[in-house]
Amino acid sequence: MSDAFDVPRLEDLVAAFGGSLEGRRILVRTDFNVPLRDGVISDDLRIRAALPTLKWLQDQGATVAAASHLGRPKGVPDQAFSMDPVRDRLAELAPGVDLLENLRFNAGETANDAGFVAELVEGFDGYVNEAFGASHRSHASVVGPCLTLPSVAGRLVEKEVEILGAMRSKPKRPFVAVLGGSKVSDKIGVIEAMAETVDQLIVGGAMCFTFFKAMGHSVGKSLCEDEQIDTAKRLLDSGAPILLPSDVTALGPDGADVRQMGRSLPDGWTGFDIGPGSAAEFGDAVMDARMVFWNGPMGMFEDPRFAGGTRAIAQAMADTYAFTVVGGGDSAAAIAEFGLAADVDHVSTGGGASLELLENGDLPGLEALRAAAARLAR
Ligand code: ADP
Ligand code: MG
Repeated sequence: MSDAFDVPRLEDLVAAFGGSLEGRRILVRTDFNVPLRDGVISDDLRIRAALPTLKWLQDQGATVAAASHLGRPKGVPDQAFSMDPVRDRLAELAPGVDLLENLRFNAGETANDAGFVAELVEGFDGYVNEAFGASHRSHASVVGPCLTLPSVAGRLVEKEVEILGAMRSKPKRPFVAVLGGSKVSDKIGVIEAMAETVDQLIVGGAMCFTFFKAMGHSVGKSLCEDEQIDTAKRLLDSGAPILLPSDVTALGPDGADVRQMGRSLPDGWTGFDIGPGSAAEFGDAVMDARMVFWNGPMGMFEDPRFAGGTRAIAQAMADTYAFTVVGGGDSAAAIAEFGLAADVDHVSTGGGASLELLENGDLPGLEALRAAAARLAR
């Protein structure tokens, strides 16, 4: 894969049609995978986030249809995952924009089936990818239309590529990555990629216990992935600038006793957060950085007894002069819950996609856009 962080943009679509989108029918792959509670949208941020692109296209005279997946239907129509609530909200926010039915009502979507791609693009003249959070998947609606239609990135995708691309190719130093969350196996690729570029790699969350075990500490009942211990050892031995917590907040065997401990936990105890000493130390590293990427909570922040570490990182992200980016669904939820989301420079709309872009320097959905642009240029 190439390491180019340029993608064709909306202006290139206008150029592809000789300077005007008047009367053109444009298919926009959006990420309208919104949270629903009893069939009611509890947060419409993802719909509002796509409005600049949708309205821009309409203002250029295009007829616009959006398409998205919602939840995880199993490749067949399922009323529980109907787009109806999204369609109603979209009609209020962007009148005139059509919305196709849930893409995952067809098994051809995740299978990237050529027949389903043909169905999707039928009747359209151009394609816009505005679903950054789906761009790491080679699904029909992400890569398929690029094979035949003039295809470009929408405003959200363009911004993600620009910001994450700059982090990867021209980081401001000191560049600090703060990685947490539950599983080393989910994040190992990005840990390894980051270890080569950052000045400091902070590892918190449940992931730190796999590293502790690799160092010979006892981890009690804490989440630990034994099959990742060798990888953790290799990383520790590689001389990568890894910073691990020096203290841990742990829950006792009775499920009520909460104590501060060092790196070794007694039998029956579970580490659910980094300790206050580590929270302060990690916070200082964020304050002293010029660029910070944060993915993954430092503890089980959903429980207020174990939210302290994550809150400290969120606060430092908000306070530091560094350029700050948050990626990851749970990390983004945490910083929003603390009321600090507006104080960081960028909250990525794609969890897995942002990690993969930092790791590989490219995504299937972005590659497909560039391939389409190259074809058009010939
Ligand atoms: P993100 O969505 O930001 O990428 P992850 O999905 O990797 O983050 O991880 C988030 C989850 O990790 C949260 O639900 C949190 O409760 C959990 N977690 C963090 N630290 C611990 C821990 N020490 N023990 C158990 N779960 C943890
Ligand atoms: Mg998550």
